[in-house]
Amino acid sequence: MARRSLVVVANRLPVDHTVEEDGSITWSRSPGGLVSALHPVLRDRHGTWIGWSGAIDSAPYVPDMDGIRMRSVPLSSAEYEDYYEGYSNGTLWPLYHDAVETPAFHRRWWEAYQRVNRRFAQATADYAERNAMVWIQDYHLQLVPAMLRALRPDLRIGFFMHIPFPPAELFMQLPRRVELLRGMLGADLVGFQTNAGADNFVRIACRLLDVRATPNASGGGGCIEVDGRTVSVGAFPISIDVAEMESLARRPDVVERAANLRADLGDPAKVILGVDRLDYTKGIEHRIKAFRELLVDGRVKVEETVMVQVAVPSRERVEHYKVLRDKVEREVGRINGEFGRVGVPVVHYLNQSFDRAEIAALYLASDVLTVTALRDGMNLVAKEYIAARTDNGGALVLSEFTGAAAELTDAHLVNPHDLDGLKDAIVHALEAPPAENRARMRAMRRHVRTHDVRAWARSYLRALGGGPASAKAPS
Ligand code: UDP
Repeated sequence: MARRSLVVVANRLPVDHTVEEDGSITWSRSPGGLVSALHPVLRDRHGTWIGWSGAIDSAPYVPDMDGIRMRSVPLSSAEYEDYYEGYSNGTLWPLYHDAVETPAFHRRWWEAYQRVNRRFAQATADYAERNAMVWIQDYHLQLVPAMLRALRPDLRIGFFMHIPFPPAELFMQLPRRVELLRGMLGADLVGFQTNAGADNFVRIACRLLDVRATPNASGGGGCIEVDGRTVSVGAFPISIDVAEMESLARRPDVVERAANLRADLGDPAKVILGVDRLDYTKGIEHRIKAFRELLVDGRVKVEETVMVQVAVPSRERVEHYKVLRDKVEREVGRINGEFGRVGVPVVHYLNQSFDRAEIAALYLASDVLTVTALRDGMNLVAKEYIAARTDNGGALVLSEFTGAAAELTDAHLVNPHDLDGLKDAIVHALEAPPAENRARMRAMRRHVRTHDVRAWARSYLRALGGGPASAKAPS
């Protein structure tokens, strides 16, 4: 039997475009874990990636890249507002992240979400070869699996949720919860980051629909019988390109850059680092507040310790994000006003995005990385930090509410809502005997090195690949 070809469907194509001086457009592959993970499999299987190109109101021709076919799906500016900023990031994103900000429900957003999901399903039905394996990514496209199955019953369909999947109490708030659930159940395999997410999904399916489920003996998810089919549900924690991060961290220019960064910071004894998108789920304010209290208490000395906070601009037109930026910047200004000296701030706040080499240099230049997310599907920054520390140096303060915490149990785990606990964890990470931090880092490095993003893609695709490629494609 011929190997099934592979189609990846994601909101975004893994490409960036540059407008040249003569007005022409050139495309390049965007950096990112997902594309590096899937690149070898897509290339081997003559694969296709279907997604939005990033261009509004047009579907430009995107050339094939490194043996991967790129197919773009158009979005209008109204759809960008209602489907992407609206339903995806104003309804689903906050609701699935424990409703740490209040989700908004608007029928117009839902209608656009349905319309765009249908367009993605149709594009996939048009492009997928007979009996292909289709892997649909993330919360933007939850309706696509069922829509696609109706169009192309010959396909083997997988869905993976990159963000948390909430407990029933939250999911039940969604006005169109049954449609969303049925959309995902159109897949043969529904994957989540954690056992908890997979269990939430199975429980919600049993509660909302008349279905039977058998739990997985190994924990997390199970099998759901629906419409005479079996849908497998499981946890597949995503990871990073460990080899790439290790080689970056060993590059002489990156090592030199790390030393220069420390010098630029005034050669402090300790550097505390945060690297996040500027998102209300990341707990940036909690971390800055903890740092401020440590300075006030005198448990951390201004002359010895600085904090560097990278806060990458994100979803800047969405109201919650504007409010967050103001809050964080006010808090940073307050600390620097109180504790900084001329030319020497205590918090170095960078509202910009950096390339991977600069991020690697920051990882190497820091003594403690703080990840204080209030809820996070995985948190790749935590895994990258560990991969970069080939010297077993550094220490990781990690929120219990990240997917990564289920694997990185040797981190300094914290509940970011418990300010005293967070302060203690930061102090402990700063002051623990070097042997303790090194032992923690060594154990976490062992885990991350054996669970990189390629292993993640392999294990998901192996689970999805099951079953014969025998159904008939519609003529
Ligand atoms: N990142 C980056 N440049 C920056 C800051 C972050 O390339 O200036 C990358 C970071 O290295 C990581 C990703 O952005 O790969 C963030 O992933 P994570 O899972 O931590 O959070 P998300 O933004 O997906 O919620």
